[in-house]
Amino acid sequence: MKILVVNCGSSSLKYQLFDMLTEEVLAKGLVERIGIEGSVLTHKPTGKEKKIVQQTMQSHKDAIKMVLQMLVDPQYGVLSSMKEIDAVGHRVLHGGSKYAESVIIDEKVLDAIEEFVPLGPLHNPANLIGINACAEALPGVPMVAVFDTAFHQTMPKKAYIYAIPYKYYENNHIRKYGFHGTSHKFVSQRAAKLLGSENTKLITCHLGNGSSVAAVKNGKCMDTSMGLTPLDGLIMGTRSGTIDPAVIKVLADEEHMTINEIDNMLNKQSGVLGISGISSDFRDLEQASEEGNERARLALDAFDYKVVCTIGAYAAALNGVDAIVFTAGVGENSPEAREAILTKLTYLGVELDKEANKKRGEEIMISTPDSKVKVFVIPTNEELMIAMDTMNLTKELI
Ligand code: ADP
Repeated sequence: MKILVVNCGSSSLKYQLFDMLTEEVLAKGLVERIGIEGSVLTHKPTGKEKKIVQQTMQSHKDAIKMVLQMLVDPQYGVLSSMKEIDAVGHRVLHGGSKYAESVIIDEKVLDAIEEFVPLGPLHNPANLIGINACAEALPGVPMVAVFDTAFHQTMPKKAYIYAIPYKYYENNHIRKYGFHGTSHKFVSQRAAKLLGSENTKLITCHLGNGSSVAAVKNGKCMDTSMGLTPLDGLIMGTRSGTIDPAVIKVLADEEHMTINEIDNMLNKQSGVLGISGISSDFRDLEQASEEGNERARLALDAFDYKVVCTIGAYAAALNGVDAIVFTAGVGENSPEAREAILTKLTYLGVELDKEANKKRGEEIMISTPDSKVKVFVIPTNEELMIAMDTMNLTKELI
């Protein structure tokens, strides 16, 4: 069974083609600058030379057509015909309260993705365009929506309700939803396997450009740090994470900024970039800090501190923790960040194996054998998770 996984951003499209017999990636790639001058497709067929195509792509529809062409290209392709694609899995940002699981896409699902555009104004429209473009290019091929919010739908109401008048929850769907659900689900399932038990209390830390922590009990999400949108919670590359909401009024009054300007500042100019004034990339900040840059050090310290506080809060929420998991760009690749965080969790019974913690980008236990709380680095694989959900939902149809 061959499954194409598609992830549409506002001006980009990422794809991976899986052979689900072996879970092998046959090809993957990225289209950037869709609808902007200088569109470019980077196609990486496994075991073959990569191909870069620069060609104007006005819309996601043009981008999908190019991707499909590359997949069957005589030189760079990996399929003899598009008919070999059995199903398509789409990453969709926001499924509101409607979807706790992945679903086969039909008219009702399309309407729901449209309904939640106000909650995911950048991503849901791009996701819809990608779905429609695939439907047109691959008529009759079943498609599945895998929502970033779905895994968090098991949170109890006391965890997701905001303390503002209840009518905004009822009328405007204002509540915590949480994101990175596919990643938290993937690594928590893997951690349960490594622990050899489904009955576990886990805290999963997805630390990348966007970052979030989730509290997972017996496979179910009980709380997570992102909120109505992915702006809430931890300090991120360019996003502020949680701040006092009163900041917005003070800036509007004193700096005469509009709501849109403030929203843009909180999403794109804040986080470790905002504090350091240097970069949103943790590699740049680690280097600058080593060279003595104090604001780079402050940005990293503030980031680590917020993760430590959130893990502490979730250990309290779960009334204990069996294992902590690190994943995503920073979580998988920064021994510095992991050490800074874990050495402040000795009160929980975390004992770091400093030697094991030197490893980057591979699945490994980084706690000592005696550590009461186990700590794992587990590389996330959201695309494989999307492909697995797509296969499970469509295999009867094919
Ligand atoms: P996204 O949210 O875009 O999927 P990723 O999970 O790919 O983000 O994470 C990107 C982040 O990971 C970047 O800030 C980058 O600096 C960081 N990162 C990648 N490799 C390293 C490394 N070796 N050391 C520290 N940080 C790293």
